[in-house]
Amino acid sequence: MAPTAVKSDVDVPEATPWRDVMRRVATDIAAPNAAVADQTASFPTRTFDALRHDGMLGLMVPKSLGGQELGLRSIADLCAILAGACGASGMIYAMHQIKLSSLVAHGMDTDYHRALMRDVATKQLLIASSTTEAGIGGDMRVSNCAIETAGDRVSLTKQATVLSYATEADIIMATARRNPASAGSDQVLIALRRDDYQLERIAEWNTLGMRGTCSEGFVLTVTAGADQIFPKPFHEIAVQSMLATAHVLWASVWFGIAADALSRAHASVRATARRMPSDFAGPLPGATRLAEATAKLQTFKSTLIAHIERFEAAKRDEDDLSSNSFTVEMNNLKIMASTMAVDVVREALMVTGIAGYRNDGAFSVGRHLRDVLSAPLMVANDRILANTAGLVVASRFDPGLE
Ligand SMILES: Cc1cc2nc3c(=O)[nH]c(=O)nc-3n(C[C@H](O)[C@H](O)[C@H](O)COP(=O)(O)OP(=O)(O)OC[C@H]3O[C@@H](n4cnc5c(N)ncnc54)[C@H](O)[C@@H]3O)c2cc1C
Repeated sequence: MAPTAVKSDVDVPEATPWRDVMRRVATDIAAPNAAVADQTASFPTRTFDALRHDGMLGLMVPKSLGGQELGLRSIADLCAILAGACGASGMIYAMHQIKLSSLVAHGMDTDYHRALMRDVATKQLLIASSTTEAGIGGDMRVSNCAIETAGDRVSLTKQATVLSYATEADIIMATARRNPASAGSDQVLIALRRDDYQLERIAEWNTLGMRGTCSEGFVLTVTAGADQIFPKPFHEIAVQSMLATAHVLWASVWFGIAADALSRAHASVRATARRMPSDFAGPLPGATRLAEATAKLQTFKSTLIAHIERFEAAKRDEDDLSSNSFTVEMNNLKIMASTMAVDVVREALMVTGIAGYRNDGAFSVGRHLRDVLSAPLMVANDRILANTAGLVVASRFDPGLE
């Protein structure tokens, strides 16, 4: 069934096969345009035009607000499919969904955020995220900048040193201190529409990989309504929805990149096999390494699925969701996924050899390797391990297999 366009206020039919839609966008548009986005460090406009046209940006929004209420497992699958075609597109799609998940989890009780969700679903608005800040780096649980309030209006100036696809986004969700007298960890999250902010570019995005995410630096200057701030403190939003969703969806993107690299390695070994004489009896070059890497990818997949199920279960129990052990498990997912994805792509390069090292050709995995090397840095693994270490030492050790 062909998906219905939702450029304006039109609902998408429930039976639309989202996976098929994403496969088509990935194959027909994202994959053939990935090299250009990478080479020119430009936003994958055609891919996101297609995703918007097919109603793919509001799938997580509740049905009561015009969305499809799609669950995390399905969204993770869609992120992986898109990332296999273009890592940057997959990451942009995942970052949008991560922000949307915070809106869905924490915005249902406020008029402003409900209206925003409805617009995301019906007008296919794209959401960007501003947590990283000058002088703070990747520690999203601390801010320098602060909200200033005058009556029912607020203002904010943030040195947002890494802010992906900011100029393409319709909405930016930003963290800040609650007020100028607040401690750095007393943060709020504010949702901003285009008319609420100005962007002054302060840093380019000329990087090794993930070039199409256009994660430039900006001074973000805001004047908005006080009701655009989420009622819940940011530390609760982070623990209860954002961190777990981010780790699941980032992991799904890295899985998609690794799986596509390995499928190229698989194709290269099969091409070698076809060239061998029919009486060839020796070990097929690359086959053993391919088998090892396939086992790693299988473990990656099982672990990712187990963590998605773990998160879904925790959502039914707020104490569990806010517990140290849940945070440790989700942090461990990020470390595992970012490490394994790099390993698998490196193995794919070893299998494909020079054909993989080339930037062109069917077996090339150069872009995959450059893109996936961002995984351990995207909130530095050392930073996450340091946080996890404190939680592990403070918690009871669980030796069980339950
Ligand atoms: C593709 C991509 C897209 C991104 N998009 C966005 C976006 O849209 N919005 C946004 O806000 N951010 C974004 N980021 C930023 C990202 O999420 C991190 O915040 C940022 O990459 C961290 O930058 P950093 O390495 O300079 O800082 P830090 O995290 O401060 O790390 C600096 C160095 O210090 C080390 N370090 C830090 N803390 C510790 C510690 N406690 N123990 C030991 N070592 C430590 C790290 O290992 C690292 O080597 C993006 C990043 C990438 C790669």
